[in-house]
This record gives sequence, structure tokens and C-alpha cells, in this order.
Amino acid sequence: MPRLAVLGYPVGHSRSPAMHNAALAALGIDGEWSYEAIEVAPGEFEALVRAMPGEGFAGANVTVPHKLLALAVADTASETAQEIGAANTLVFGPGGIHADNTDAGGLVASLPESPRGRNALVLGAGGAGMAAVWALGALGARVSIWNRTPARAETVRFEVTERAQRFQVQIEVKVVAPEPEPTEFELIVNTTAVGLGGEDPFTELPLAPDGFARGQVVVDMVYSSAPSTLLGAAAACGARTVDGIEILVQQGALSFELWIGRKPPLDVMRAAARGE
Ligand code: NAP
Repeated sequence: MPRLAVLGYPVGHSRSPAMHNAALAALGIDGEWSYEAIEVAPGEFEALVRAMPGEGFAGANVTVPHKLLALAVADTASETAQEIGAANTLVFGPGGIHADNTDAGGLVASLPESPRGRNALVLGAGGAGMAAVWALGALGARVSIWNRTPARAETVRFEVTERAQRFQVQIEVKVVAPEPEPTEFELIVNTTAVGLGGEDPFTELPLAPDGFARGQVVVDMVYSSAPSTLLGAAAACGARTVDGIEILVQQGALSFELWIGRKPPLDVMRAAARGE
């Protein structure tokens, strides 16, 4: 029976096992495949991944803090994983360990419309911010980055620009002033961890509860059990909203297809990820 897993540190909070096992059951293949959570410290990550194929694993998702390491450990990598410089999906096959990145595709799939030609504001310059900047920029959005620590935003801009030249991808990206005007953007993506620990987005981020525009698309990558304060305010202003669970589901569905070769039922994955 081929095994699948999510590797993280910590990983107990992950909704991926519930989501993927529900999809396997809905397709009637839960007797053939299984999906589990494995907590692994950074120092043990490489040895664990190398041992996985011998223990019956066909692939894995990789989450914080292992996404850079996952790419480094792989024998081959998809163009997207190389371009973003991180991997969230591993596939074990005859060619060894293959790394891919479905975070970018998951974000794009969750948007109500193509970001091409749109003015996009990405809040945050961590791993999720990097993937979002690349995903939107490579599809032709004009991307502005804001981060609490501006030097980190500069690093993302520098790395994206350098990779864009290396991979010959046209990307327009800049770092914005400390107080950007949110209504200037057609798309706002929060990739900071603000909200995860109950922080107020309107004190921590350059946003105001009444500062969203009608028709604007507002995405909050953070997900918790409670609905996001940020998305609640955006919806009240008439913006279209996308939550972190939808992005989790979309990236998970793309990973599922890479391992199993079949499209999973999105509704089943959504319900399981929401704990319904
Ligand atoms: P990370 O690499 O640790 O980056 C954290 C980011 O959050 C940095 O930009 C950091 O700014 C910012 N930040 C943290 N606390 C802040 C505060 N109080 N005020 C302003 N900015 C703050 O983390 P990551 O991997 O990018 O993940 C970020 C978030 O996205 C997490 O909540 C994660 O759960 C979520 N995420 C969701 C999905 C999904 O599928 N829905 C996928 C990936 C990640 P500084 O640089 O100034 O510290």
C-alpha cells in the first residue's frame, strides 16, 4: 500500500491528513493509499526523506520549516520549484526524489480571475510571500511587496529579479513605501503570519477595516478555526475574498494529482479541511 505524508516541524496542527484521506476515501482508494503526518526536526529531515521510498512512501508534502531543504535534497525538480527556490511536494520514483511546488499553482487556482495585468500587493516576505510574488509576477501581475521588516522585502525583490533573469521570465516587482494605499491595488494577498496568534491585522499591517475597495480581490493565506478579521472587513467593503483553507485545498489537490494521477474531489477536500 503506497504511503503519503506531510513533513513539518511542528506538524500536529496540519489539516492535510484529514483532507487527503477524505479525498482517497471519496475516490474509493483509501484501501490502497494512506496519508499521515510526520514531525521531523530540520537536522533529521534529509535522512528521513532518503529512507522514505524504502518504507513504502510514494510522495510527501513538505511544510514549514523544510521547503528549502526539500528542494536541496531532491535529485530532480520542476521548473516552478527551481524558479521559486522551494518545494512543498516530493514524488519518489525510479528517477529518485523529485521536487515540485504546488503553492504557487494553488494560490493562482484559488483566485476568481487571472492576475495578468493587475496591480497586486503582497504583504509579507517569508516563504509564502516569496511563492506568492513569483506566482503572481510570472503570470503578468505588477507586484508590490510590503513587509514589516523592509530589508526582507528587498531580499525577496532581489531574489525574484535575479531568478527571473536566470530563468528568462518577465517579472515586474517592487518594494512599496511603509504606508501603501491599499485601494490602489486590484489584488491584495496577506502572506504574513498576522492573525494566526490572534494579532489584529489593522494594527500590524498597513490596512484599515474600511480601506478596501468594491470588487478588489483580498486573499488571506492564514487560516485558523475562526473566520479571518481581515477577510470579514474586506467582504463588508464589497471586496471578493479568498481564505487560507481554499489555498490549502487547491495546493493539496495539485499535489494529490502528482502522486496519484487523478483529480481529487475539491468539495470533499474543502469540507475535511474545514473540519466539517
Ligand atoms: P515565515 O517565512 O515565517 O514569514 C512570516 C512573515 O510574517 C514575515 O513576512 C513576517 O515579517 C510576517 N509577520 C509575522 N508576524 C508579524 C506581525 N506581527 N506583523 C507584521 N508582519 C508579521 O512564514 P511563511 O511560511 O511565509 O508563512 C506565513 C503565513 O502563511 C503562516 O501563517 C502560514 O500558516 C501561512 N501559509 C498558508 C498556506 C496555505 O496553504 N493557506 C501556505 C503557506 C503558508 P518579518 O519579516 O518582519 O518578521
